[in-house]
Amino acid sequence: MQTRLFIDGKFVQGAGPEEDILNPATGALIAKIPSASKDQINQAVAAASRAFSSWGRTTPAERSGLLLKLADRIEADAEAFAKLESLNCGKPYPRVLEDEIPAIVDCFRFFAGAARCMNGSAAGEYLPGLTSMIRRDPIGVVASIAPWNYPLMMAAWKIAPALAAGNVVVLKPSEQTPLTTLKLAEVMAELFPAGVWNLVLGRGETVGAPLVSHPGVHMTSLTGDIATGRKVLEAATGTLKRTHLELGGKAPVIVFDDADIDAVVEGVRTFGYYNAGQDCTAACRIYAGAKVYDKVAADLASAVSGIRFGGPEEEGVELGPLISERQRSRVSSFVERARAQKHVEVLTGGKPGAGNGFFYEPTVIAGARQEDEIVQREVFGPVVSITRFDDVEQAIGWANDSQYGLASSVWTRDISRAMQTAARLQYGCTWVNTHFMLANEMPHGGMKSSGYGKDLSAYALEDYSVVRHVMVKH
Ligand code: NAD
Repeated sequence: MQTRLFIDGKFVQGAGPEEDILNPATGALIAKIPSASKDQINQAVAAASRAFSSWGRTTPAERSGLLLKLADRIEADAEAFAKLESLNCGKPYPRVLEDEIPAIVDCFRFFAGAARCMNGSAAGEYLPGLTSMIRRDPIGVVASIAPWNYPLMMAAWKIAPALAAGNVVVLKPSEQTPLTTLKLAEVMAELFPAGVWNLVLGRGETVGAPLVSHPGVHMTSLTGDIATGRKVLEAATGTLKRTHLELGGKAPVIVFDDADIDAVVEGVRTFGYYNAGQDCTAACRIYAGAKVYDKVAADLASAVSGIRFGGPEEEGVELGPLISERQRSRVSSFVERARAQKHVEVLTGGKPGAGNGFFYEPTVIAGARQEDEIVQREVFGPVVSITRFDDVEQAIGWANDSQYGLASSVWTRDISRAMQTAARLQYGCTWVNTHFMLANEMPHGGMKSSGYGKDLSAYALEDYSVVRHVMVKH
């Protein structure tokens, strides 16, 4: 297994402290991986700065060609990438192989194509004797900070638009899940010029913080917690860096009385528990109309009690462990605090799984009230709450009464009601009669404390580039 940093086109042993990488399905140690020292962070930023002077001037076609080759290489080695990701995260192997890797490959292909199709706006004579034109140029050195829930996919979401737009990148994956980006470095080493893409490893406080506050970094892109987003913003003030923040979520799922309840139950069983609920768009906060509340609660509890959880390679497993013991005890405390309230009922789950892995039973919590912590705060685990509502205004009001604004869904057979509700929801995305579906062509990103800036789509290319005016005197 490759465990070295990748700086200036070379693999180098990290000179900082070692980090234990655990298998979440067994609790066993997979590897001890040295992190980057302060000097190595500086070297990575310096290498990226040097590389920018030529990479920033490559043609879109050149960058596109390399991104397409990268996509082909990941696709050709899909099984090895998927094995490593499921080992490091405990995810069911078929889900990584069949869901995540194709989406990652397509992300690189999409940005390879999009890089060549960026639209300009008008050019012309806005003052007599002078011609103006608008350019879209790269920003420079981008520090990309990724979380542990989809390590390779989050890296792809950051690397693909940044490189496509002509920037250079220093990536820091989560200290808990570096394995697939370490493997990615082997491919990047063969394809990209030295310094264009660099990999540093280590913890947020010791490696992430000095990287994002480095004066040689022009933009920071973070996917992570709201608290980390605040720190990244504070660090950006020193040198007025551009920031791109994808933070947490607490997706409301509004189920009107006329919804197809079987579809709702099937949808929430899938999209509330995918990746063990460690997903910022997870369908975790149900508001059900008074007439269907009892049926939704009973049918969902029955469906969720049938979800099989276990290790990544076990036959028929739908749900893996949480990423760490710390994350499991966080999830468990949320459920215990909810259970302690008289009006709340845990319909199924509500306990850690057996064994040494960090498993937690898929859980449904009924009777939750709008002001309850379980409705207001992101759990980031396999836990879904259900709350009864009386009318449309209450449902929309409660759905919007949240610090988060990333994803939401509306379930109804009435298309007017769906559209009117979707128009009033303060979320970066609203799905109708489904949830969680992402397309590389469509923007993904939040409002309110879920952050700003878009991943995926042509909007990400805009975020990773700067609009400039060039004027020529006749
Ligand atoms: P986290 O904020 O703890 O860590 C994210 C990354 O930030 C890690 O690489 C970490 O090392 C780094 N980091 C931590 N402190 C830092 C600092 N001071 N300076 C620089 N870097 C620092 O988040 P996590 O626990 O890894 O991931 C879970 C969170 O990510 C959840 O809140 C989830 O909702 C969010 N998330 C959001 C999206 C989205 O698209 N909006 C997608 C996935 C995850």
